[in-house]
Amino acid sequence: MPIHAGQLYWPTTMNEASTIKNQLLEKTYDAVVIGGGMSGALTALSLITAGLTVAVVDKNDFAAGSTAANTGLLQYSNDIMLHELIEQIGEEKAVAFYQLCYKALNDLKETAGKLPVDPEFINRPSIYYASDENDLGKIKKEFEVLTKYDFPCEYWDHSTLIKKTGIDKPGALLTYGDAEVNPYKLVRGILQMIQSQGADLHSGLEVTDVIEAKGMLNVLTSGGIVKARNVIYTTGYVKPPVGKLTGEVLKRTYVAVSKPITQPAWYEKALIWETKRPYLYMRTTVDDRIIIGGLDEETDQMDISQEAIRTKAERLILEANDLIPGLQLEVDMSYGALFGESKDELPFIGRHPEKLHHYYLLGFGGNGTVYSMLGAKMLTELIQGKEPAYSQIVGLDRSVPRTDHTIIR
Ligand SMILES: Cc1cc2nc3c(=O)[nH]c(=O)nc-3n(C[C@H](O)[C@H](O)[C@H](O)COP(=O)(O)OP(=O)(O)OC[C@H]3O[C@@H](n4cnc5c(N)ncnc54)[C@H](O)[C@@H]3O)c2cc1C
Repeated sequence: MPIHAGQLYWPTTMNEASTIKNQLLEKTYDAVVIGGGMSGALTALSLITAGLTVAVVDKNDFAAGSTAANTGLLQYSNDIMLHELIEQIGEEKAVAFYQLCYKALNDLKETAGKLPVDPEFINRPSIYYASDENDLGKIKKEFEVLTKYDFPCEYWDHSTLIKKTGIDKPGALLTYGDAEVNPYKLVRGILQMIQSQGADLHSGLEVTDVIEAKGMLNVLTSGGIVKARNVIYTTGYVKPPVGKLTGEVLKRTYVAVSKPITQPAWYEKALIWETKRPYLYMRTTVDDRIIIGGLDEETDQMDISQEAIRTKAERLILEANDLIPGLQLEVDMSYGALFGESKDELPFIGRHPEKLHHYYLLGFGGNGTVYSMLGAKMLTELIQGKEPAYSQIVGLDRSVPRTDHTIIR
């Protein structure tokens, strides 16, 4: 099943002759990573850095899945606000999860700075505006709790928001330390770098099953068997070859990429989003385009025409033009894509509850890249026999509202 349709933008930003060479050896790898998108690349990097031998296999090209559709907003705030997460899992765990996200942003910055390719990582503030008066209370409550725990943020009332940005909404939360990135370049850059550090990579190999044999794992692929001590599933929104996920929800979402603009975009080129669900969100790019996303629909089907995608993109552009005075955007590229959320708005990261040496990093939710980063570190520690702090918050055996468990088999 395709996970996106239409014209993607990020692959057009990289003129790369195939610098990633296919190679797998007849040896037993400490870890085989299944899926070469954001989660797979960051996990492989973390494992290689810890001194493990690693192979990454992908059934398609690397970074061609959800990573290529990712609009590249990186934020420490999540779709579930901190005060809401406190109600869901308690204050200590909720604050710890937000702190992990904040740290992951810094880890992403550090990673971006080391790559052979510039992944266009730029720190930006985020403007999270109340879509209507009813949501202003939420924004104020969030500001209070973030401030209590020293997360960098500010509250802007209506007059400050309109004066600074022209956005005519009741108020907004400003968060600092967030960033924009080109996810495609980030992943291709990581893969290039780890290949030069000894990782073996292979695209075009589908993993069909993973079978235990004499204390090892045989990874069955469309091109033969790869041997591993540990297997990590970083298969994104696609069903993993082992394990059945029951805590996720798939939706269809849309993205419009404007033609480059000549006028200044808006205040500090901030990342903009809102409290309404589904939310409208937008960012700028290094070549002065505006990327706008939203209009999520309750379907997991991608059988949609280019014309229908274009109509959605025109609507996104209109909403952006209405929001920011002076913007006069025109659609250049547009696409639709599947988007995975989890029922408790947290990612799935950790060991299989019953199978030894099977690990998952499935970053469902709007903050997927941050989850990929924090999950990569967590899984590396788990594989090394450590118990990372607070890993139970995202573990696969946690109980999720309205489901019994997450991964079963
Ligand atoms: C429109 C859109 C906008 C988004 N915007 C943002 C954003 O602004 N910020 C953010 O943080 N996140 C965003 N996300 C989420 C983000 O895209 C994901 O969190 C992230 O890219 C997922 O990376 P991944 O590596 O887990 O999955 P993917 O990039 O999908 O990689 C999974 C890989 O696994 C491979 N694979 C699957 N099954 C097998 C198999 N059996 N054998 C071998 N290979 C296999 C696939 O081919 C694929 O390459 C957005 C998502 C969408 C759709």
